Amino acid sequence: MPPSGLRLYNSLTRQVEPFVPQVPGEVRMYVCGVTVYDDCHLGHARSQMVFDTLHRLFRETGHIVRYVRNITDIDDKIIKKAREASRPISEITGRYIDSFHRDMARLGILSPMAEPRATEFLAGMISLIERLLSVGAAYAAGGDVYFRVRKFPGYGELSHQVLEDLMSGARIEPGEEKEDPLDFVLWKGAKEGEPSYPSPFGAGRPGWHIECSAMSLHYLGPTLDLHGGGLDLLFPHHENERAQSEAATGATFARTWVHNGFVTTRETKMSKSLGNTLQIRSFFEDSPYPEEVTREWLRYFFLSTHYRSPVDFTDQALASAKLALDGLYQCRTLLPAEDEGEGEDDRSTFRADFMDALSSDLDTPVALSVLHEAKSRINPWLAGGRKGASPVDPREVRALFDLAGRTMGILLAPPSRWVSGLREAGAPPVPEISETEIVRLVALREEARKKRDFREADVIRDRLKESGIVLEDQPGGPPRIRRI
Ligand SMILES: [Zn+2]
Repeated sequence: MPPSGLRLYNSLTRQVEPFVPQVPGEVRMYVCGVTVYDDCHLGHARSQMVFDTLHRLFRETGHIVRYVRNITDIDDKIIKKAREASRPISEITGRYIDSFHRDMARLGILSPMAEPRATEFLAGMISLIERLLSVGAAYAAGGDVYFRVRKFPGYGELSHQVLEDLMSGARIEPGEEKEDPLDFVLWKGAKEGEPSYPSPFGAGRPGWHIECSAMSLHYLGPTLDLHGGGLDLLFPHHENERAQSEAATGATFARTWVHNGFVTTRETKMSKSLGNTLQIRSFFEDSPYPEEVTREWLRYFFLSTHYRSPVDFTDQALASAKLALDGLYQCRTLLPAEDEGEGEDDRSTFRADFMDALSSDLDTPVALSVLHEAKSRINPWLAGGRKGASPVDPREVRALFDLAGRTMGILLAPPSRWVSGLREAGAPPVPEISETEIVRLVALREEARKKRDFREADVIRDRLKESGIVLEDQPGGPPRIRRI
């Protein structure tokens, strides 16, 4: 098994390091899943896409991926929601588990190996808590069980905080009998009107952090190769998972910690265009495109920013992503049919550059630029009716696009479904465009011009021109639209 060559930023060491799994050819990967009390939003979508891309990259490089993603189906927020709706908890969690699965299908996320639910793992959590009690890392107080943070010398290392700083934000809430404000709950004693489960420490329910420690231990053993999640989980969730897992097993909990950046929504107008919500479901429902197109549009949008940087979700950035992806589809449509055998070629420099980018801390923006480089080099030959020798082997370009499909989940839709709209393969390469789309693009271009983002304005103008729409700017008013 060749090494993956992958280098990843490890939040624990704050360095980009070679990613070396414990067992060659096998990756043990755990990603914190969702708490099922509401529909998922675009922040979840981004996180799932980042780890899906890693999942796909591991598969592409010949690894078996033992990927576990949990579902938190017992939690304060779920109890509150069930109470407000006067519905049983199982009905609420069932509804949002279904919704989560629909969203994952919409986004084209590959299924993990296992998707355990917290309520199905109570025995594992209880035995882990018993282990922590027996080694003195935990204590029972007032019906609850707490983790003794000061007993774990490495506490704060993952999120790079010292205990003194953490103390200032720590509190003992009324009703808690903690020894130390830093201690966190492993088991919550039963409260009136809340669901509870029997345990050796009395009826109650597990704290949130313990579930991931118990479920990852069950499926993947004491040491994970990769533990992932959104940056919001770094503290306290991952710090606490690490403390309790390492205190219980004595082993390193995770060799590499990967956190993706936030999705920001600085531009308020976006919420208007998306029906005042950022749910994955509404994004798909409000999209003017079919599901398979919307999926890749959103994937392209998120993957065009490095996973550790924040992404600002704006109409303009979305429009740019669509244009860029349209260009790739147009090129793909014009490539000769695969009649000369498979073009997969390990010697391809495109393939090497693309894989180098992904292997370099999952640099998806650079990987996407390799696709555009290939497109730009072959486009003049394609546009000129494929006369003479092609500047690059069209099979290599096709193989590169297929590789992007396997690793990034883009360029997988049949070109005929790509309603940017490109015609059926074989038809003249004139992209069709609807009236609504013209109006939308003209408005986006005006917006870009107002912000003096002329590069963006030009991209939109060129896109319209490809479809035979020429904009003639008028002083002090909207542009005149001319069809050629
Ligand atoms: Zn977790």
